[in-house]
Amino acid sequence: MREKKLTTAAGIPVSDNQTSLTAGERGPTLLQDHYLLEKLAHFNRERIAERVVHAKAAGAHGSFTVTHDITRYSKAKIFSKVGKKTDVFGRFSTVAGEKGSADTVRDVRGFALKFYTEEGNWDMVGNNTPVFFIRDAIKFPDFIHTQKRDPQTNLRNETAWWDFWSNVPEALHQVTILFSDRGIPRGIPYMNGYGSHTYSFLNAKDERFWVKFHFKTRQGIQTMMQEEADRIVGKDADYHTRQLFETIEKGEYPQWTFYIQVMPEKEAESYRWNPFDLTKVWPHSDYPLIEVAVLEMNRNPENYFAEVEQAAFSPANVVPGISFSPDKMLQARIFAYADAHRYRLGANFERLPINCPHSGVHNTYQRDGMMRFDGNAGAAVNYEPNSFGGPKADPAYKEPPLKISGDADRYEQKRGVDDDYIQPGNLYRLMPKDEQKRLIKNIAGSLKKAPVEIQKKMIAHFSKADESYGTGIAKECGL
Ligand code: NDP
Repeated sequence: MREKKLTTAAGIPVSDNQTSLTAGERGPTLLQDHYLLEKLAHFNRERIAERVVHAKAAGAHGSFTVTHDITRYSKAKIFSKVGKKTDVFGRFSTVAGEKGSADTVRDVRGFALKFYTEEGNWDMVGNNTPVFFIRDAIKFPDFIHTQKRDPQTNLRNETAWWDFWSNVPEALHQVTILFSDRGIPRGIPYMNGYGSHTYSFLNAKDERFWVKFHFKTRQGIQTMMQEEADRIVGKDADYHTRQLFETIEKGEYPQWTFYIQVMPEKEAESYRWNPFDLTKVWPHSDYPLIEVAVLEMNRNPENYFAEVEQAAFSPANVVPGISFSPDKMLQARIFAYADAHRYRLGANFERLPINCPHSGVHNTYQRDGMMRFDGNAGAAVNYEPNSFGGPKADPAYKEPPLKISGDADRYEQKRGVDDDYIQPGNLYRLMPKDEQKRLIKNIAGSLKKAPVEIQKKMIAHFSKADESYGTGIAKECGL
């Protein structure tokens, strides 16, 4: 192979990359060694702001192939015909740990997918759990503070976890999932992904349906016992990252079957659960899973920073035929994700190659900003209205109106109607006895570290979900 010439960032040939320019053999370095200065200065700037949550991740490219017709529910081009294939990029993360933290910890996993559709990117920014700890984003920064490091000790603080959860009973469902076997997946290929929020679909007749997204692993759910996971933390902190990379390198491509649950628009008003409450599932017996497609991860990134670190997902990115719902958490994430990326990557983050639509179409009137590294739309007109043939909005993409009613106020969800205990209880009751025992042991192992008053408060919540759930934990805690 012919050797390439080493250059400075400005493309100037470099004569020596091993010794710096000094005044005499033992003399000090000269300021004139601009190549040395460039190297040091660039090195100082290698790190960008770490994501506050979901900092540690593995990523892969793949495909999404439609296997069943759902055009009666959605006009999105991605679903337009059976056999249709769309490029995807996936990022799979832990939530609480920093960029270098261990993979095999008990935590929720991010399951973020970017579908490069012909009508722009659809980002499905989900988790490996169908619900979340809270249903109102106003609680989110406080909740995440309990999961990150203590302000004084810089250690993770289990008292903060249980203090928060004992004061927020809506968390019980997700807490039950987190401390169950599924709280530590054996690997990324062995977990499910869920959209978690309720989204909406619009069909060609502009009929609206509420939908939930489910990606079920075809490798089968496999989890890790706490003791094994703890051992692996010390031996191979990057266990899941390594496993995904090596699995794909070997040509064993993990797959998930994509299903939806569909609720006609009107039914939301009378359904027994608030269908926009992120702490609740829609029981399968009410809304059965409808098979749609297969997702496959089949190509490793060439460059981690360019593809995984710079990947920027936002629930705001939905394409015609897919839309939002009144879910309060979703509404906040529509703002928060793009805002995080503007902070992390700058105003032009959508222009980075990993975030660019594969359709090549991005005709906006946005210009300039830090790191505008493409042609900045050249000489094209940069305002609207204009008489020079600039891009135009198309009313054909307008969504049908959504009826909203009520007084502007701050509403606490009515506990009686939207009970926070039934679904965690249902989950506990569907677990086999041995899994129930492990769940109780996992919870008690952590809860014991909190003050007794908090333990008691928490046990009262578990008991409301299921008497034996609460008494089991109380016994393990020695109460
Ligand atoms: P179903 O019996 O219809 O569904 C139960 C679902 O629970 C399964 O399909 C599976 O979801 C999931 N599940 C099974 N075993 C476990 C386990 N050990 N740990 C965690 N999840 C498990 O009943 P419902 O729809 O009424 O749900 C009952 C409970 O199941 C819910 O309260 C919820 O906690 C949980 N669940 C429900 C989901 C839903 O969308 N309805 C999705 C996931 C969990 P999967 O096939 O997706 O793995």
